[in-house]
Amino acid sequence: MLASDGELYGHHQAFREKFLARLLETSLQAEGYEPSFPALWLSRNEIHDTITIKENTSWSCHHGVQRWKGECGCTEGGSWKAPLRQAINTVADQIDSAFEEYAGKIINDPWRAVEEYARVMLDQISADSWLTEQCGDRLNLEQKLHLKSLFEAQVERQKMFTSCGWFFEDFDRIEPRNNVIYAAHAVWLAERVCRQDLYSEAIRAFGEVCSPRTGLKGDDVFSGAYYRFSHRS
Ligand SMILES: [Zn+2]
Repeated sequence: MLASDGELYGHHQAFREKFLARLLETSLQAEGYEPSFPALWLSRNEIHDTITIKENTSWSCHHGVQRWKGECGCTEGGSWKAPLRQAINTVADQIDSAFEEYAGKIINDPWRAVEEYARVMLDQISADSWLTEQCGDRLNLEQKLHLKSLFEAQVERQKMFTSCGWFFEDFDRIEPRNNVIYAAHAVWLAERVCRQDLYSEAIRAFGEVCSPRTGLKGDDVFSGAYYRFSHRS
């Protein structure tokens, strides 16, 4: 099996996507190979053995996964990484508590529903039809709006852990800022439902994040994004 980063093809390397297309559509067959991928292969072949992932290892940090949670030799000046990880974890706990508290009262297995929500994200089904599948037609309009907000908050909660937010050397870059913006969106969405102040604890946590290069503060990024979300609708 060959594995490589999908982002190489066209994103990092212009026109390499054309190489990939030619490889998969023409060249492999010409050499007698049949292209496949793990899910397809598993659907046609029996499983004989299983393997486990070696936890806390990566192919782009020689210090385990330190690159994504603190300082290591891969990126000098990573003092902002640990507090960013801590702040994102804090927001994740808040979002999950709000989600369980509210959705748990309406949906039997809310965490299973989070996994199944992928179908809405993939546009395989509308959010309304999906909610009807989950709950029948017993939801009132407010419950529907609240559940949609909470599932959207779960999506943002996943996005705020995007790997490249910690990959590079500085906090004052688009990748970490994006993660903070996803977190602000998640908090704003969840607050609309649970009517609790999640903002203050999040702001305190992001206040510990600072770029050593430019002095950009995590709480400023968070509050700016939160302000934009709350004034958008
Ligand atoms: Zn490293």
